[in-house]
This record gives sequence, structure tokens and C-alpha cells, in this order.
Amino acid sequence: MKTYIFDPISNEALAYAQSHLDAVCSDSPEIDNYAEVEAVIVRTFKMTPAIIDQMPKLKIIAKHGVGVDNIDIPYAKSKGIRVTNTPDANMNSVAELAIGFAFSCVRRITQSQFAVLNGIEKNSPMYLSGYELSGKTLGLIGLGKIGISVGEKLRDAFSMKVIVYDPFATTEHCNSIGFTKIENLDELCSKGDIISISVPLTEKTKNMITSHELSLMKETAVLINTSRGGIVNEDDLYVALKNNKIFGAALDVFVQEPIQKDHPLLTCENFIATPHNGANTADALIRMGVGAVDEIVRLKNGEDPLSKL
Ligand code: NAD
Repeated sequence: MKTYIFDPISNEALAYAQSHLDAVCSDSPEIDNYAEVEAVIVRTFKMTPAIIDQMPKLKIIAKHGVGVDNIDIPYAKSKGIRVTNTPDANMNSVAELAIGFAFSCVRRITQSQFAVLNGIEKNSPMYLSGYELSGKTLGLIGLGKIGISVGEKLRDAFSMKVIVYDPFATTEHCNSIGFTKIENLDELCSKGDIISISVPLTEKTKNMITSHELSLMKETAVLINTSRGGIVNEDDLYVALKNNKIFGAALDVFVQEPIQKDHPLLTCENFIATPHNGANTADALIRMGVGAVDEIVRLKNGEDPLSKL
């Protein structure tokens, strides 16, 4: 099946695509000729109606990743084109980043690095003193794939108690995995030592964490957001961190991305930023690339793709 790969994918996934499909990658001159293409793999490339209209033989748009906001799905469907994604491919990588954030914040790892780079006069200064994770309470906002993965890993490895705020998660489900459902966000904010956010950005989750929720958190609490920018109000977080109202925070996602170096949050010593790096591991990139190819191969073989969009 003639397949165009519009964005760079891992070498392993590219080799897999080329061995299973008639695949051409994005730096090939041939990629300008859309007339014969039957399948595409996209990461951020925009599949607009204008592009889709140039591909009369297109049967499938396979997203390398989860978010499909770069694909006009209604238009694709109106043309009988299948749209797929790879929803499970990156949850482990994102969960591991959230856990890395938790450690980095409670042990002040990046602050320690800066202190060492700037020259340090004595070991173990009090201002770099931190906390253990073991036995503490993890507050999960959102109990989807990533939230569960973060919770299970920290529960099993560090005996953390896990509490959950997710109106769509049942008490039975939470109990079955050893977590405790909390009915309101305020209570979760006041009880969590580490608070990790894994929800989609919606009208309800936009500005979910403002000065009100931050004021309820313990002075020793750490806030982590690996989901989407805009869920945590960045201005309010800045005020809370500057005044040491919470111990620390780490964000992988921002209202404007990539985060610019003059962002006020970057002046807070108790703050860690990464540039939407949650799924950026070799492991996840291979799983996303191979997963996208497999969906095309299924369609080619007359099977139904696994992802339902
Ligand atoms: P998921 O769909 O499996 O889970 C989302 C959870 O959020 C669901 O359990 C849902 O019930 C819950 N939820 C929805 N609205 C809520 C609300 N108002 N309050 C509380 N809970 C609510 O998604 P996932 O795979 O766990 O991913 C979570 C988010 O992480 C996604 O929205 C995605 O955009 C983001 N993400 C980020 C990266 C990254 O690189 N940083 C990578 C992958 C995904």
C-alpha cells in the first residue's frame, strides 16, 4: 500500500514501515506527488481538507501518537477515510516522567545541580533538604491510562497511598486497584503530598488549578502536570511558588509551547520545566511508529484497525 510518512519517525519504525508497506518518508522528493497515495502516517503534519482533496486514493490516516487535533476527522470520515491513532504507546513514558518530576522536586535535584554548578562551600546544605516519597500520599487528578500507571508504580515501589479525583472513575474501580476515590478536588488538594494531573484539556479542566486549589495544598506539596497546558493557571502557580506556598512544581506542558526562556515561572527555584517531553523516549517513538504501521497493515489485509476514532 503506497504510504507517505509526513514527519520524521524512528529508524526502527521506518524500517518496519518499509518492510511491510510501500512506504516513502518525508524527505523523499516523491512525497510531493499525492495522487497515488493510499495511506499516510502523521505526527504533527496537518491533514486539512485541502490536503485530503489532493489524495483521491487515500484510505487511511494513521496518527503517530494520541492527539488527533491536526487531522480534520469529520472531513476524512465524510470521504470514507479511516483515521487511527496509537493510544497506549506513550503512557508509560509519560508516567515515568511524572515520577521523575516527583523525585526531582522532593529531593531538589535540579536545584542541587545548579548549586553545584555555581560553586558550593559545604555539603548537605539545609536549603537543599528534601523529603522521601515512601509512605506519602499521591493525589491523582484523572484516572486514565497515565494516571493509573503513575499510581500503580508509586504504590508498588514506594508504598504510597493513592487518592483519586476523577468524576468518571467508579469507587469500585478505584478500590479494585487499591486506590481511594475522593469526591471533590478541594479535598484531594488538601490531602496530597504529590499531586499529579493526567486529564484532557476541556472546558471543565481549563484552569482547574488556580490560587484557590493551590491555597489548599500543604506547604510540603509538589504539583505535577504532564497532561496539557492551561489546566494549571500559570500566573497563580508563579505566585504560589515565589511565596513558597507549596514545596515545588514541575510542568511538561504550557499554555504557549515551546515555553520561552523569559517565562516568569523559570525564575522560581522550586520549579522544573520540560518542553512537552512526556512521550519523547526511544521506546515510545518505536511503539507509536510501529503501532501506526500496524493499523495500515490491518486495513491492507482487510481487517479492522484497532483504534476507534
Ligand atoms: P485518558 O483518556 O486515558 O484519561 C484521562 C482521564 O481524565 C479519564 O480517566 C477521565 O475520566 C479523566 N477526566 C476527564 N475529565 C476530568 C475532570 N474534569 N476531572 C477529573 N478527571 C477527569 O488519557 P491519558 O492517556 O491518561 O492521558 C491524559 C492526558 O495526558 C491526555 O489528555 C493527553 O493530552 C496528555 N498527554 C500528554 C503527553 C505529553 O507528552 N506530556 C503525552 C500523552 C498524553
